[in-house]
Amino acid sequence: MSEESLLALRHVSFSYEGEERVPVLKSVDLTIEKGSFVSILGHNGSGKSTMAKLMNALLLPEEGTILVSGIDTRDGEMLWEVRRHVGMVFQNPDNQIVGATVEDDVAFGLENMGVDPQEMRKRIDEALHAVGMEKYRTTQPYRLSGGQKQRIAIAGIMAMRPSAIILDEATAMLDPQGRQEVMLLARRLNREEGITIINITHFPEEAVFSDHVTVMNAGEVLMEGTPHDVFSQVERLQAAGLDVPFAVRVRHELAAQGINLPFVLHQEELVEHVCRLLSTR
Ligand code: ADP
Repeated sequence: MSEESLLALRHVSFSYEGEERVPVLKSVDLTIEKGSFVSILGHNGSGKSTMAKLMNALLLPEEGTILVSGIDTRDGEMLWEVRRHVGMVFQNPDNQIVGATVEDDVAFGLENMGVDPQEMRKRIDEALHAVGMEKYRTTQPYRLSGGQKQRIAIAGIMAMRPSAIILDEATAMLDPQGRQEVMLLARRLNREEGITIINITHFPEEAVFSDHVTVMNAGEVLMEGTPHDVFSQVERLQAAGLDVPFAVRVRHELAAQGINLPFVLHQEELVEHVCRLLSTR
């Protein structure tokens, strides 16, 4: 683990308690660098959520080791330190709201930490500002859209001054606008506040802006690398039942028709290349 690593999984295996202990994660190795934006991609049941819960000590590995800023997640005395370092946003926005108003909700974790009222006020203001929800401080959360509720959940984590935020399918229940709101916020917090973002998703489109993509399949790391490294292997991804970003798929299908374009990840790039090609014909 380099000094810059925030999170390291070393040979991590896990299975849930039950009659037959089917391995859900099989000897997973993964390193997440401080300040990076990473995506963990995989279809349902590939073990992504289990991995997220292991990363903030909601679950403990059966075999192997997980280090969060050098702290072993098995160290019971450091449990709250691990959870403060690595906050987690879950899929269902309605299950995460506990406060009667937006600011009560953001205050919840701070109250549990015993933060004094003056400091609490300051952190709530900062956190609501960071997620662009200052205007809604006295709003009752049930009046908010799904995307806004997820931004409030992120504010609750920001108020704890975390090193990393895990978004565990945090956009899966949102409409396209809500999805975009949450992704833009995650990218901004990464770039401007230096928060490490671990985005767990089954939407390949969300992974194209990452520094690093890890693809999970049946509890194992199938591939990892930059979005370019991973998404240029279209056939391998499709063989594992995974989709690729729209622009990558269209370019791949055009190549099968004998129309070769440079590699693209983003739709805007694809449009540019297609227009250039049409103008030369
Ligand atoms: P993903 O997030 O990629 O959909 P999960 O980590 O949720 O994958 O699930 C991986 C496997 O573990 C699945 O086969 C799922 O049925 C099983 N699983 C998940 N949670 C539990 C649980 N609490 N008890 C037993 N099995 C579980």
